[in-house]
Amino acid sequence: MTDPLSAERAAAVAQIAALTREFDQVVDASRQSNADDEHDPEGATIAFERQQVAALLDSARRRLADVEAALERRAAGGYGVCETCGRPIAPERLAARPAARTCIDCAR
Ligand SMILES: [Zn+2]
Repeated sequence: MTDPLSAERAAAVAQIAALTREFDQVVDASRQSNADDEHDPEGATIAFERQQVAALLDSARRRLADVEAALERRAAGGYGVCETCGRPIAPERLAARPAARTCIDCAR
């Protein structure tokens, strides 16, 4: 059986790699078209795309940070405990989000 946290980390790393490539492509496209101008319709589209990819990249990095934190908690014996209230996180929640830092009540 695959370890859910290791699988989640691999998925996050792959997502970051894919988004980094995409970001580089958008940056290249803006250089090649020389349309990096907000008043140019194409330039505005590229600027928007770059923002979108940058936002996705940020959330992918947070996802990886959550997984790393969960792996550390597991190594320290505190995995599956809510960081906010200290109560156990429901198994169903951990199954859906192996890197969850908080229980469902605290996440609300
Ligand atoms: Zn809690």
